[in-house]
Amino acid sequence: GVAADREQAGAEAVTLDGRTIALGANIGSAAEAGNALANGAEEIGLFRTEFMYMNRDRAPDEEEQVRQYGAVFAAMGARPVVLRTLDIGGDKELPYLNLPAEPNPFLGWRAIRLCLDRRDLFDAQLRAMLRAAGADGQLRILFPMISTVSELRRAKAAVEEAVAGLRREGSAVPERWETGIMIEIPSAALLADVLAEEADFFSIGTNDLTQYTLAVDRMNEHISALYDSYHPAVLRLIRHVVESAHARGKRVGVCGEMAGDPSAVPLLVGLGVDELSMNAPSLPAVRRIVRGIRQAEACGLALAALGLEDGHQVRELLERGL
Ligand code: PEP
Ligand code: MG
Repeated sequence: GVAADREQAGAEAVTLDGRTIALGANIGSAAEAGNALANGAEEIGLFRTEFMYMNRDRAPDEEEQVRQYGAVFAAMGARPVVLRTLDIGGDKELPYLNLPAEPNPFLGWRAIRLCLDRRDLFDAQLRAMLRAAGADGQLRILFPMISTVSELRRAKAAVEEAVAGLRREGSAVPERWETGIMIEIPSAALLADVLAEEADFFSIGTNDLTQYTLAVDRMNEHISALYDSYHPAVLRLIRHVVESAHARGKRVGVCGEMAGDPSAVPLLVGLGVDELSMNAPSLPAVRRIVRGIRQAEACGLALAALGLEDGHQVRELLERGL
């Protein structure tokens, strides 16, 4: 119940057989950090920074971004904060960038692709993230829509350049930071072994990974029955990502909607993910579920799911439970 959930808010999300799952909150503005903490978030697992850029006449400048990110670090103290770089495009438009209309916006000039071409936007954001973290913030920079290794290398180089520039100016920047990538395009999932050499962590975006794996527009209601994150093809990609990352000592989180879906929790834990990041109100129930399952049994469940025909069969399996 609600009272029990509240009591558990400070408790670690550890399975009955001792595996700890980090629980984070997804936020779209600095103002949401307080609510994340109130629901027991151990970290900000995803700050969708694009919302700061939307519904206005021009991009937020570096100073405004420093204030926003700084407020998140101030709220979270020593806890990790995952700041995702601008993930614009697809359904999220910024009229003031005057980008050309595209026949396939979801396959278009967006997210990291746009940022690597618009270094003015990207560099201002990276500088703001580093300045906001200061010397003590647990900064984790997350790049969206990575589909090739060279994009990750170029994005990391941009971070290094921003750090060097800030140091020259005498600004406090963190001694250490992490750079991770969203795994939300099938090419990235399939190339996870290669990407794991270059990334500090992975965050699986099941919303887009489902869309791109199944070729089903996540916004199109006529085909919403085909949009299924429980599809074994999606689950097999998740499994491959986890195995590839763990073989190289890297962590894997899930930050798509699936992470906050109670029925998906045993499945994702069984697939081996290390972190779940979700909308804050889902945290108490997910924590309770993690604390009630055994990793060993969840692994068996996940293994069975990987061999099923479709998402319906996976859901049936999950309903039968552990
Ligand atoms: C995702 O794709 O799963 C994700 C978390 O990113 P967004 O929903 O912002 O595209
Ligand atoms: Mg996405």
